[in-house]
Amino acid sequence: MTPADPVRDIVIVGGGTAGWMAAAALAKVAGTRERSITVVESDAIGTVGVGEATIPPIQLFNKLLSIDEADFLRATQGSYKLGIQFVGWGRRDHVYMHPFGLFGPDMNGIAFSHYWLRALKAGGDPDNHLFIAEGEAMRLNRFGRVPPSPGLPRINYAYHFDASLYAAHLRAYAERLGVIRREGKIVAVDQDGESSLIRSVLLQDGRTVGGDFFIDCSGFAGLLIDGALKAGYDDWTHWLPANRAVAVPSERVDPLTPYTRSTARDAGWQWRIPLQHRTGNGYVFSDAFISEDQATRDLMESLDGRALGEPRVLRFTTGRRRKSWVGNCVALGLASGFLEPLESTSIHLIQAAISKLLALFPATAVDTRMAGLFNTFMDSQYESVRDFIIAHYKVSQRDDTPFWRHCRDMPTPDTVQARLDNFRARGEVMVENHELFRESNWFPVLYGQGLTPEGYHPLADAMPEAELAATLVRIRQAIRSRVDELPSHPDFLARLCGTPRQGD
Ligand code: FAD
Repeated sequence: MTPADPVRDIVIVGGGTAGWMAAAALAKVAGTRERSITVVESDAIGTVGVGEATIPPIQLFNKLLSIDEADFLRATQGSYKLGIQFVGWGRRDHVYMHPFGLFGPDMNGIAFSHYWLRALKAGGDPDNHLFIAEGEAMRLNRFGRVPPSPGLPRINYAYHFDASLYAAHLRAYAERLGVIRREGKIVAVDQDGESSLIRSVLLQDGRTVGGDFFIDCSGFAGLLIDGALKAGYDDWTHWLPANRAVAVPSERVDPLTPYTRSTARDAGWQWRIPLQHRTGNGYVFSDAFISEDQATRDLMESLDGRALGEPRVLRFTTGRRRKSWVGNCVALGLASGFLEPLESTSIHLIQAAISKLLALFPATAVDTRMAGLFNTFMDSQYESVRDFIIAHYKVSQRDDTPFWRHCRDMPTPDTVQARLDNFRARGEVMVENHELFRESNWFPVLYGQGLTPEGYHPLADAMPEAELAATLVRIRQAIRSRVDELPSHPDFLARLCGTPRQGD
């Protein structure tokens, strides 16, 4: 094969969430008449089998595929997610929320948070959640899909779902559109001796699957991008020390909450993700601070329902491939890097990579210009998510265990330090256009962890005091009336999916 060969046969290595998301999106957008799309996966190896919480842009991915929301939630045993509740993160006894919504409306081109900070400094209520509709709905366990209406806030949401069922749903979708599935374990990768381009993969039973363009979705193994192409890996453990997770499902506990819970533990944190048929749980930790056995015991002792299986330990190295696209191969999902799921970003990073790949799709097996643009984009995505996650650990006031003291004292990238300094000085972090997490994400997290800004935007003082007070009351009432009209989350879900409520 030569670099100038047209892309006719696409081979996706791996059939986890990444592999089937890529196959479904490519089949929908590129079709399977001009090009063949083949997914190779191994039942014996299986998938990582965790990954259940998402963020709002996932709605766009399902829309691209014209997937009906009710069908999707039924098929994946999913529930709605309005944000994350953080327990014990700022201090041991403290709870705050990172809801998906806006913190009040911008006013006169200035973020609402500055007006709110001005009111706070004058003795106002320190509860910022009162001005985030999704935060109020989380507290009251409500959910609804609301049409846009003037003067009332939107309700932004994402989903919790069983990632294995999502992959199965997408597999059925992709196969209907003509994607070919090959089951088998890949034992070798055949490359052109001169150009190193990948020509085919060899399966254990002797079959080969050849192609012009390869998408490596082989999970942590990185069979093509690392095994064959040696793209290299940037290890970020010095900024994010967690390198293990132990996961176990447990029985569903009612009421079904419309949020993920993240509880800080002695050597990391624990997730709780409510699904229709079970609750997903896991403890993300660093084995430099706690043994796998102890972390497993801590997890099992803290479940709020009966365990439904044996706990499973997953090992990872936080970081990302130096290049995700090399020659005629692009890596997606865990094959391209891993950031702990504190802000539920891995599936989003797959989605972002697929969107970019579709936008930059090469006409020929090698297109170094497109590959360069893709790699720059993915670097910026990974780094900005990384910085947001680091900030959670850095700002925590906990110092009660060696792990939390390590987080307090560890170095941070300059980019994070600059943000924390800006926030401390005047309540803003100055996000760039390409960033996933905006001011409305950073504010509730940094403030929630206990970092109260010393100042605020000077022009927020321009509004007369009486007008500010009346405006705050009006916004608060709009949020309250929006949330008051929402049904309970379990009721909404049961009605949408046509399933009886638990206990009915
Ligand atoms: P995998 O699921 O590992 O799939 C790899 C595929 O490659 C499999 O089909 C496998 O059979 C195949 N394969 C590998 N080697 C071979 C071979 N030799 N031959 C043939 N086939 C092969 N993400 C979120 O968005 N939200 C979360 O809440 C979240 N929580 C997580 C918690 C933990 C502890 C971990 C580790 C991850 C979490 N993630 C989360 C990430 C999420 O699980 C992954 O991003 C997602 O599942 C995609 O995985 P993948 O498809 O890249 O890899």
